[in-house]
Amino acid sequence: MAAHDTHRGEPAGGPGVDTVVVGAGFAGLTAARRLAEAGQAVVVLEARDRVGGRTHTVESHGTAIDLGGQWIGPGQDRVAALVAELAPLGVDPTWPQPTTGDDVVDLGGTPRRVADAAGAFPEEDLVGYIELVAAFEEVCATVDTAAPWRTPEADALDAMTLDAWVRRCQPPEGARQLFEVGVQAVFAATSAQLSALHAAVYTRAGGGWANLTDTEGGAQQDRVTGGLEPLAERLAERVIGAGGRIELGQPVRRIDDTGDGVVVTCEEGRAVAAGRVVVALPPTLAGRLTYHPPLPGRRDQLTQRIPQGSVVKFHVIYDTPWWRHEGLSGVVVSPTGTIGVTFDGTPPEGTPGIITGFFEGPNATAAAEAGPAWRQRTVVDVLVAHLGAKAADNVGYLDLDWSDEPYTRGCYGAHLPPGAWTQFGPALAEPVGRIHFAGTETADRWGGYIDGAIRSGERVASEILGAPA
Ligand code: FAD
Repeated sequence: MAAHDTHRGEPAGGPGVDTVVVGAGFAGLTAARRLAEAGQAVVVLEARDRVGGRTHTVESHGTAIDLGGQWIGPGQDRVAALVAELAPLGVDPTWPQPTTGDDVVDLGGTPRRVADAAGAFPEEDLVGYIELVAAFEEVCATVDTAAPWRTPEADALDAMTLDAWVRRCQPPEGARQLFEVGVQAVFAATSAQLSALHAAVYTRAGGGWANLTDTEGGAQQDRVTGGLEPLAERLAERVIGAGGRIELGQPVRRIDDTGDGVVVTCEEGRAVAAGRVVVALPPTLAGRLTYHPPLPGRRDQLTQRIPQGSVVKFHVIYDTPWWRHEGLSGVVVSPTGTIGVTFDGTPPEGTPGIITGFFEGPNATAAAEAGPAWRQRTVVDVLVAHLGAKAADNVGYLDLDWSDEPYTRGCYGAHLPPGAWTQFGPALAEPVGRIHFAGTETADRWGGYIDGAIRSGERVASEILGAPA
């Protein structure tokens, strides 16, 4: 987005502002666009010097590389519609995540090259995994994604971790480990950190376990041409085109509800008065703002219990995708390794060659502590051990530790530990007076994903447009 689209350090916005939106991720931008298109005067206050939040695209080695959100898949109708609407003219808006070639699976011994990762697992583990997933899907089918606390077995499911639920099923150890790779890939947290109810709600909201974990037919199916942050920039242009204003570099610190309106105050004193405010932040960060009068205890206690996952995302860059010539897919699956899974991140033009992967959960925290040089060395060593010696000939390495980002503090999304949904759940999305809450975590479909962020922005805009003045 061009700098002239931003407004910094202006005097306090007057009573003419209908709604202030805090945060210019997909949730905040969607809400702002809807409200502005409905005729409201809208100001978006964004802490970073860019829009897009948990999506972040950088140009490197002649291509756009997503350091944040990057895939879309079947069932993600809202993001698909936005991609189609805002695609630059003459450009295919998406392209399929490459999957051709053999995967390499490391079960702790010698890595095995297989046509499909499932083929590397002993039959007993594979059958155990299939049974475990089927049992989990049965639980998912019972949950209420719009009101998880109303799930028939809510109390029992929310009283245990997902790990406790899995162990109760007594799967073979290999099956449990395989399920755990999926859990950490989806939640960026261990199953011991998640409420079983939360895991089931999140999974159902994303269309089921296979949908969340699969590439073809699942949430990792398609890449967006040019990356996701440029999509957020084009969405921001729509906000501005509809008369909305976006101010970058304005971290909000305080929200005062004055009885007949709100005053939203930023770090360096910029204050905007408005009728209503949308807080479109990860819930933990929403909980760090100062509210006057203070928010009800239930809302504050909720935001004390909704941590973000831990992720370091990396891209290793090569002149060409050399592994393809060797019949490899670039996928490494390593249930007990430092890196659970990698993908072929090469752009559709075919160069540069890119291997994309993640440190997740406890591995992400350890990798963050160890520092970028250690991470680069470790990632390349893992690729050499699994894909071959050519993996050492990388021409670039990029990564981002999302826990270290002051305006995100962890990814991909938030998760709830045992007890939180049933005790505090309604406070997640319920407005408090003139203060409304959006963000992917508040979505009842595709929570944690860009699609969920868009849905939450739509929901909060309807809430405000339908609310009494
Ligand atoms: P955010 O994007 O977090 O937006 C919140 C905004 O508020 C940010 O711009 C932030 O800077 C701003 N902010 C924070 N504090 C303040 C403050 N005090 N004042 C003002 N502004 C503030 N999703 C997918 O669908 N597909 C994927 O492949 C995928 N992969 C991912 C990989 C990684 C590494 C990460 C990090 C995320 C991934 N996600 C993926 C998740 C997806 O990016 C998020 O769900 C989505 O972008 C969240 O949007 P949001 O608007 O709800 O929140």
